[in-house]
Amino acid sequence: MRQSRRTQRTRTALVAGGAGFLGSHLCETLLQAGCSVICVDNFLTGRMENIVSMLDSPRFRLIEQDICRPLDLAEPVDRIFNLACAASPPRYQADPIHTTRTCVIGTLNLLELAARNNARLLQASTSEVYGDPEQHPQTEDYVGHVNCTGPRACYDEGKRTAETLCFDYLRTETADIRVARIFNTYGPRMDPADGRIVSNLVMQALEKRPLTIFGDGLQTRSFCYVSDLVEGLVRLMDVDPNPSQPVNLGNPGEFTVLQLAGLVRDMTHSNSAFKFLPLPQDDPRRRQPDISRAKALLDWSPKVPLKQGLMQTISYFMELEASRNEDRI
Ligand code: NAD
Repeated sequence: MRQSRRTQRTRTALVAGGAGFLGSHLCETLLQAGCSVICVDNFLTGRMENIVSMLDSPRFRLIEQDICRPLDLAEPVDRIFNLACAASPPRYQADPIHTTRTCVIGTLNLLELAARNNARLLQASTSEVYGDPEQHPQTEDYVGHVNCTGPRACYDEGKRTAETLCFDYLRTETADIRVARIFNTYGPRMDPADGRIVSNLVMQALEKRPLTIFGDGLQTRSFCYVSDLVEGLVRLMDVDPNPSQPVNLGNPGEFTVLQLAGLVRDMTHSNSAFKFLPLPQDDPRRRQPDISRAKALLDWSPKVPLKQGLMQTISYFMELEASRNEDRI
């Protein structure tokens, strides 16, 4: 049987935000699966060290560009993963207008690219579309509880609009899209300075500084290890038929911030004290994904327990610290 041209040639995946924490792991996984990978990144929060091991691959190409500018590619693409957007609150709040532009105009540019190429686009959405949820755990049908004028709105509402655009492109049969609602994910290559909870606590413990806890520390979060999350993204991109609905991806294990801080302190053999600070505005009280849809549609559920994932993450930060100290000598 003759194969079509599309299946004969190597599949090309574009990863917007490919130099970031999740994007760089995704690029690696796609390369290992035999794809050609085009990484598009403006290095707002991404780091060259995340992708340096891939730069020599003939199947990897880096385009340094902001997705707010339309993309014009010489070669066809089959898959577009849109992960471009700073994910940590201090980073996305530093230039909130650019964050909204990235989510709305950037996503629109990538949807147009998908339409021109007849490519499939996966949008990295977020549990933040649920805001400070009144439903627990959160199913995809829950429409959310978001403050549209607060300091987090550039991200929360930006991501909600990006989802709207994706489903409008799908409904009008302009592009084939998938939407993953990602819950808190951690692992090696998180930026140690970007203010996210796991990297914050691990770095504070390693540097023997007090561990900062916002509020009373009884608010809950769920933590998904990066390899589990990337597996979920790839499955959602590849699944047929199109689920035509957003899919939660995250680890349903629920921990209080105090429990996480205690675990980090034990695992790093630190005796840092806890330092309690006021809760930031619009900080969600509880966060736990209902992943029934991902289980049913993708046969996916996370495998890596928190302690095991934290071990890998702590080792990564220890190595990073050691290499930075060497550079200083
Ligand atoms: P990250 O900040 O490490 O990566 C984001 C990447 O996008 C960076 O490389 C950054 O330079 C790039 N970028 C930002 N704005 C851009 C623009 N306008 N044009 C081109 N590149 C741009 O964050 P991450 O944790 O890897 O998150 C990746 C995606 O997943 C984000 O869209 C985020 O909203 C989503 N997400 C992540 C989490 C998580 O826990 N890590 C949770 C929910 C959703």
